[in-house]
Amino acid sequence: MKRLFGTNGIRFVLGRDFMLEDVLKVGLAIGTFFGKRRCLLGRDVRLTGETIASSVASALMSTGVSVYDAGLITTPALQYSVKSGDFDFGIMITASHNPPEFNGIKVIDSDGVEIPREKEEVIESIFFEGKFRYVSWNEVGSYMRIQGLVEDYVRAVLKHVNISAIMERKLTVAVDPANSVSVLTTPLLLKSLNCRVLTVNAHLDGTFPGRDPEPRLDNLGTLSDAVIAAGADMGVAHDGDGDRAIFVDEKGRAHWGDRSAALIVMDYLERNPGGTIVAPVSTSKAVEDVVNKYGGNLVYTKVGSIIVSRTMLKLGAELGIEENGGIFYAPHIPVRDGTMATALILDILTRRNEPLSKLFASLPKYYQVKDKVPCPNELKEAVLRALLSEIKGGRVETIDGAKVWFSDGSWVLARPSGTEPIYRVFAEAKEPGRAQALVEEMKAKLRDIISSLMSRA
Ligand code: MG
Repeated sequence: MKRLFGTNGIRFVLGRDFMLEDVLKVGLAIGTFFGKRRCLLGRDVRLTGETIASSVASALMSTGVSVYDAGLITTPALQYSVKSGDFDFGIMITASHNPPEFNGIKVIDSDGVEIPREKEEVIESIFFEGKFRYVSWNEVGSYMRIQGLVEDYVRAVLKHVNISAIMERKLTVAVDPANSVSVLTTPLLLKSLNCRVLTVNAHLDGTFPGRDPEPRLDNLGTLSDAVIAAGADMGVAHDGDGDRAIFVDEKGRAHWGDRSAALIVMDYLERNPGGTIVAPVSTSKAVEDVVNKYGGNLVYTKVGSIIVSRTMLKLGAELGIEENGGIFYAPHIPVRDGTMATALILDILTRRNEPLSKLFASLPKYYQVKDKVPCPNELKEAVLRALLSEIKGGRVETIDGAKVWFSDGSWVLARPSGTEPIYRVFAEAKEPGRAQALVEEMKAKLRDIISSLMSRA
């Protein structure tokens, strides 16, 4: 079966690997699947966003769907609006953190979470078979622009923090929204909390002139400089559609998402003893250490934000995390949300009354090394079986590839990529040399297995 959806919706370069007629067919397939319903449509700042959104809207209406167009909005604000408003589903036109030439289509279910795999498969089969349900001329859906959703969303985020305590602190916060739609949400949240707000890369521009839409430790220099120059209490950087947040401390130092996640988990478990945390199996041991220390319950999942969201719903868990800066806070909505993550960090900063650098320094520290080994897709399963048979004793997690823990607290994970013909190899240890050695050892083992399987084939 051919695939249309990747791990996070449909991704493409318009006019290169995906044409406007393909976009129309996606809209027709989604409309045929949902029937005569109400769809909330939104997009990020990408240059092809309007073209794709208007085509999807036309296709949906011709299948009888009524379209409510929110225009520019973050993914989590759209997801919250679908869940809380009178909509049956949502569509977000975004390629999240991918480079500017990419765009994509995410389908949101009525609960605000991306649709599950089974529904994607039905939409895919409608797409590939071309069995679209056009309605007659007098049944086509209506089209309406809709405003005020971002304001409602920010008000909803504010409900989950101590507003008056944060307001009293009069914090200074620098924001880097990557020239995209988070400029509509996070500064508004901060102003509502009486913060002094500074922005960099803050004019809307689909060429992403300031930095790559993926916030990484190596591309947040402008934000770090702004934090230092302004004497800010912290900085926050978002990705292209606002569902991720990477934080910079008051010394201008950026911290990867596993650090901010560990901080939020620690604070959450102190207030909610015994709480359940959901995290992909690739998550840092720092999070597990914090969960063990504060008496929580950590549930590992396969890698992928939709899986984290759906597992949280199934277990009734309130907090989920991803190492890339994804925080899922179910009392608000169980999806990645960069503005909600910012509110939670402000709440922690206020309650603990210590500089962010000090709070980060109090967390367990590990070093991670990431690498990959080429592996033909058709061999991936056999490779995993062979690998598992070679691992003797010790703690092993097989929820997504094979993760092996060692008695010194280090671990190594070999995981088949869902999209590329590779095995991803991650390791983490107290010393960088140990993590590197674990990765090299695993890579050698994988290469041996792959070459012996290939020579047999
Ligand atoms: Mg994103």
